[in-house]
Amino acid sequence: MATDYNAFITEDTIEGDPDASGPLAGATVAVKDNISTAGVRTTCGSEMLADYVPPYSATVVERLTDAGATVVGKTNMDEFGMGTTTETSAFGPTRNPADPERVPGGSSGGSAAAVAAGEADVALGSDTGGSVRCPAAFCGVVGIKPTYGLVSRYGLVAYANSLEQIGPIAGTVERAAETLDVIAGPDPNDGTTRDPREVDGADAGVPESGYAAAADGDVDGLTVGVPTELFDGADERVVETVEAAIADLEVQGAETTEISLPSVEHAVQAYYVIATGEASSNLARFDGVRYGHRADSDGNWNESFAETREAFGAEVKRRILLGTYALSAGYHDKYYRKAQDAREWVRRDFEDAFADVDVIASPTMPVLPFELGESLDDPLRMYLADANTTPANLANLPAISVPAGEADGLPVGLQLVGPKFDEATVIRAASAVEDR
Ligand code: GLN
Repeated sequence: MATDYNAFITEDTIEGDPDASGPLAGATVAVKDNISTAGVRTTCGSEMLADYVPPYSATVVERLTDAGATVVGKTNMDEFGMGTTTETSAFGPTRNPADPERVPGGSSGGSAAAVAAGEADVALGSDTGGSVRCPAAFCGVVGIKPTYGLVSRYGLVAYANSLEQIGPIAGTVERAAETLDVIAGPDPNDGTTRDPREVDGADAGVPESGYAAAADGDVDGLTVGVPTELFDGADERVVETVEAAIADLEVQGAETTEISLPSVEHAVQAYYVIATGEASSNLARFDGVRYGHRADSDGNWNESFAETREAFGAEVKRRILLGTYALSAGYHDKYYRKAQDAREWVRRDFEDAFADVDVIASPTMPVLPFELGESLDDPLRMYLADANTTPANLANLPAISVPAGEADGLPVGLQLVGPKFDEATVIRAASAVEDR
């Protein structure tokens, strides 16, 4: 298998059930390296877990192999999912198959690159603040961030539990939806999972025949909301490409209407307080005693702990510091509580918008793929690139990135966000974008 793009950290096989039938039987799947695979090392892109071999597989991996898909490897990622370019990986950056001098996006950059380069039929990523949608957009493939609670997180190494979901990446909307059909649904090992059919008002979003059947391209009569805030400040070439795709949806019978989501102006700030706060707590377990690499320090625990934590890269350390600070006594009210208020405001803004529209369209990323190295020295610039993706995580909503076309020869992704558990509508609308 070609590895020119450095899409994989580990190439190893977990065979799918040879007797399975269904759309994923015989397919190959690339799995992000923060999703546990029994017997196959799972590094999270970190020196800290460079030798960690999980004793069990994540529920999503079990479901895929039961459905006949064969895991072909573990994909490169920003360390612990912290990044937008796959450059914070301890295993070197992944290159974008659309332009090898550019990043594939992140943090699931290896998964998107593997699919874009034909090294796997489908892939799994995890999306805490955009990490499935961003690399899908940058690599010119499709990525779905499911509603919070639709897909089990059992076996996903946590970055920020309250925000993240595992989601599929594939070459087409239908293929991504087929993968979602396999991994979705309640799991006794993850108490946050729900059966949408049992959630009041959400049952309409689950087609009897599965999500893939919703990829029928039929947008006749669909109302598409276009929020001004998610276009303001975006690269003009991205805006033009996305606007042309939305105009095409009108030609196909959809109605578009301008809407306003004032709260999303604060989404990135709220996201980074909540995500780093949760991360600082989640990453405390990598102390060399309970989990992870252990430094050798003659029995002095404080020294050993400090040296052990050197195995984290700069971005991870920055976030542990930020999160610890935001949660500390005296600052909790100033930062964390305000971020939670903003999160609630974002949730309500979307709820109000969905009283009038079926789906909300915007650029997935406000920028074209960065050149390798371009954003590494400027973390704030990298954080701001998450402006359009983080709102769906804060509001727990389903979202998809689908290729809208190209600008200067580079892929541009269009994002569609839908009401809670209504993945069918975002899949339907995305398949119309793809069919143009
Ligand atoms: N870029 C965002 C971050 O660095 C999103 C990451 C993710 O979704 N895992 O936190």
